[in-house]
This record gives sequence, structure tokens and C-alpha cells, in this order.
Amino acid sequence: MPITIRIQVSPKEATLLHVLKRKVAQLNSIPEKDINHIEIVKRSIDARQKNIKINLTLALYINEDYITKLTHLPDYPNVSNSEQIIIVGAGPAGLFAALRCIELGLKPIIIERGKDVRSRRRDLKAITRDHIVNEDSNYCFGEGGAGTYSDGKLYTRSKKRGDVNRILDLLVGFGATPEIKVNAHPHIGTNKLPDIIASIRKKIIEQGGEVWFDQRVIDFNIKNSEIDGVILHDGSKVTARKVILATGHSARDIFELLYKKEIVIEAKPFALGVRVEHSQQFIDQIQYKTKERSAYLPPSPYSIVKQVNGRGMYSFCMCPGGVIAPCATSQGEVVTNGWSPSKRDQPTSNSGIVVELRLEDFKPYAKFGPLAGMHFQAAIEKKAWHLGGETQRVPAQRLTDLVQGKVSQSLPETSYKPGLTSVDMGGVFPDFIHNILKQGFQDFNKSMRGYLTEEAVAHAPESRTSSPVRIPRDRVSLEHPQIKGLYPCGEGAGYAGGIISAAIDGEKCAEAIAKVLKG
Ligand SMILES: Cc1cc2nc3c(=O)[nH]c(=O)nc-3n(C[C@H](O)[C@H](O)[C@H](O)COP(=O)(O)OP(=O)(O)OC[C@H]3O[C@@H](n4cnc5c(N)ncnc54)[C@H](O)[C@@H]3O)c2cc1C
Repeated sequence: MPITIRIQVSPKEATLLHVLKRKVAQLNSIPEKDINHIEIVKRSIDARQKNIKINLTLALYINEDYITKLTHLPDYPNVSNSEQIIIVGAGPAGLFAALRCIELGLKPIIIERGKDVRSRRRDLKAITRDHIVNEDSNYCFGEGGAGTYSDGKLYTRSKKRGDVNRILDLLVGFGATPEIKVNAHPHIGTNKLPDIIASIRKKIIEQGGEVWFDQRVIDFNIKNSEIDGVILHDGSKVTARKVILATGHSARDIFELLYKKEIVIEAKPFALGVRVEHSQQFIDQIQYKTKERSAYLPPSPYSIVKQVNGRGMYSFCMCPGGVIAPCATSQGEVVTNGWSPSKRDQPTSNSGIVVELRLEDFKPYAKFGPLAGMHFQAAIEKKAWHLGGETQRVPAQRLTDLVQGKVSQSLPETSYKPGLTSVDMGGVFPDFIHNILKQGFQDFNKSMRGYLTEEAVAHAPESRTSSPVRIPRDRVSLEHPQIKGLYPCGEGAGYAGGIISAAIDGEKCAEAIAKVLKG
């Protein structure tokens, strides 16, 4: 059995196994020759002091052979002739639900409105270059879901949701670097995610599952309060006794359909604000307290939370060395989010900076019942589109001008490719959000000195932070309380926030179904 030890070393030492070996041997009075192998199990950075340290958890193989531990995928059975389960949506929730269905002997049929991961790229280009949003294929819709062209951050704030390591193991099995299991804040990167997603699809199909693209679900077949399948946009019917609904936080047509059919849904609080871009070098200088980042340190992230006027204002989905992306899902709206390549080597860093919203904020839209929050969100995205010149140009303001309520006379170049329009953010947001942002950025500057700089630019809005609707489900059976056989799943239903938690929730829904069908 290897011995586990924790050690703190310099960033350079952390990369040199022979130095680590010597150090560990000295510190623990072990003859160096007895250490056959050192494995790094966990790695995190402690940048609280100028003298930055790396915390390592190491497994020491003393007088013991080290056998390389390969990550094996489960032994998936062939499910071609098994009962079919419809999964709507090929995001992380849908894909991991499908894999778990196969593991448990059920045949998944994934129905996805968007295109496969490669064909999607053309539509992303069209948004950036021609300002045309394909309503079925964009940054949120298509194979892999909203996380495909992302930073691919793989950490979740809630460890209670389930087995994070199991999902990381599966991702490694499908081609992700084993490093994701070591780093405290792992990420994959936009350039690597598509191949991993394509391998998952390949496996699902090899084992007898099906993955359908360009097929939008427009209705549910329900008989006596029990699901009997779904109806596609061409009118065709697909039958199944169990349907996992994993359509994500941007499937507004699905929320509208549920409401129209009087299937119970609830408004859910979420958060909304701007996406702020700084130069990465600038963030490194603040976070690492040095002029030049050491070659042994990664581009620095940041995470910040403040209470302003009794509300939370916080950083969300920070992308070091990344780019701001146009994430609208319809014409006539502007939405921002961010991505990074695996090396996080872009010269800019960006982060959503969002304000916590409450159900009472949605009162002006009360006539939309449980869709009030969704309409609140859509109204801001539409306003941004008008202010941006009715294109994908994004309303923008230097951070220093935002705080002073001035329209910026000029804007520096940013990574947001469709372009910027200089505005006063007061025109985009309701007063209470605008005022919190104005005060909050001054408060941020007290924790991260220099954050509030005229070189930083706010892009608006960052509005798809989580679902504005919850689709209720029973805590144990995970079925919708009113429609038997319907399993609301993932972020869109309100049970996940991010790639990992959505994947975990997908697995849970598959397990709940297998329990009913297979006992
Ligand atoms: C640019 C960007 C960057 C992000 N970065 C990160 C990150 O670094 N780390 C992280 O953890 N999270 C990130 N996220 C969030 C993350 O992507 C989501 O939390 C996650 O994808 C939610 O998974 P899901 O499966 O529940 O839903 P989604 O991923 O939204 O998938 C839903 C799928 O359902 C499909 N669909 C919708 N309606 C229908 C219909 N009617 N018929 C058929 N199919 C339908 C959609 O096309 C979509 O593919 C990012 C999101 C974006 C947009």
C-alpha cells in the first residue's frame, strides 16, 4: 500500500519529480533509494502570500512496485434489444444518462435539436461573423450541450450532489487527460472537449443506443397522466414509457410547452449581470503579486463574493486565458459567456460578475406565472440587442465608467469578436442591478486591488447562469409529480449547475428509471 503524505513546495519543485523524491525522503527520514515511485494525487496552488506555494498530496511507493493504474470504462453491455428510454438533450446530463442507461441494461435514444459537435462549428462562426443565430445550433444547443465550447471547468461547489470522481474517471476513459483527477480546479478546454464528446457518442451507438441530431422535441405524448413518448418537429412520434427531459437552461420553448400543457413548473431565482474582461497579465499581477507570472504557474483564476445592498454579487464561470463568446439562442437577443482553450493561453481573462436575483424581482412579469423569471431574463437580453445596434454587438462600458455612470468615450479591443457598442449599463439593467454593480465593483477593488481599472470592460448581459425555471420532481423516484414516467433532469430542470453536476444528475435519473423497470 502506498503511503500518503502532504507537502508544500515551490512551483518549480512541484514539476520536478527527482527533487520531490529527495525532499520527501529527507522530510520523512526515508532512504531515497527505498522510494520506488511518487504519484501526485492532488495539486492546488496557495497564492495567498507573495511566496507562492504548491500543495501536493503524494502517494509514496516504498519498497513496493508501482503498477500504472489505467482508467477503464465500465464493461458496457449491448442494449440493442432492451427497453428504450428517450433522453431529450445531448448535454452532459443527457449523455451521462445515456451511458448509465447502457450500463444498467437499458437502450437510450438521445434526441437532440442541434447538430453533431463538428457541424456545430459552422453555426458558431455564423453568429460571430454574420450575426445570425441558428435557433437549434449555437453555443448552447447541439451535441455536448452548453458546455461543449466552454472552458470545461470540472469542479462543482456542491460535493453533496454525488460522485464527482466517477464522472472524472469516465471523462478520462473517453479521452480527457488524467491530470483532471489531480488538479484541485481541473478543466479540459474548448479544443479538447469535442473529441471527448464524440467518443461518448461513438460508445453509445456501438453498444446499441441511438443518438439523433437535428430533431427538436415539440410536444409530449401523455395518456392518463402517464408519458407515452414525444413528438418531433416533423410531426413524427417516438414512443417510450420513460422520458428523461434534459433540455438545459435555454430551452424556453420547452418551458413554454410545459406551461401551456398545464404541467407544473415553478419560477426559480437565478443570477444576472455582466461579463468583465481584463488582460490575463493584469489578473496574474494582482493574484500572484508579481510583475511577471512564473513559467511554473498557470494563468491565474479569481473568485470573489461580496454582499452589496443585502444581495450577493459574485464572480461566475471565470475563464483565465479565455475569450468572451456570443451565446444567444435566438435572433433578437444578446447573451455573453466565456471559454478557454486547454492551455488557457489567450491574452485576456474574463468572468461573469452577477447579482443574485429573488422571486420578488420578477413581479413586473407576474402575468407570465412561473415563466416570470424567464421573461425578466429575456427582456434584458432583448434590450441589450437593441442597444447593441440590433446585431450581436454587445453593449459595453469600461469598468471605471460603469462605476461613475458615464458612457465610455472609447473602448479598448476585447476578445468578443462580433464587436462592442459603448452604452451606459443603466440602459440595460433595472436600477437595482445597476446600482449593485456600481457599488460592487468598488468593493471588489478593496479585495483585489487594481481590479477596478479603465482597461477592464464590462460586456452585457451575462444572463444564462442557471435555469429561471424549476421542473419539480419527487425526491426519491425523481419523476414529475403529475406526469408518470417523465424525469426532469440536469440544469434546465433546476437540479444542476455546471458540467459535472449535470452529468451526475443524468446518471441519477437513469438509475431511478432502472430501479423501477428492473427492480
Ligand atoms: C459558453 C459556456 C461556457 C460554460 N463553461 C462552463 C464550464 O467551464 N464549466 C461548467 O461546469 N459549466 C460551464 N457552462 C455551463 C454548462 O455548460 C451547463 O451547466 C451544462 O451544460 C448543463 O448541462 P445540461 O445537460 O443540463 O444542459 P445543456 O448542456 O444545456 O444541454 C441541453 C441540450 O438539450 C438540447 N435541447 C434543448 N431543447 C431541446 C428540444 N426541444 N429537443 C431536443 N433537444 C433539445 C440542447 O440543444 C442541448 O444540447 C458553460 C456554458 C456555456 C454556454
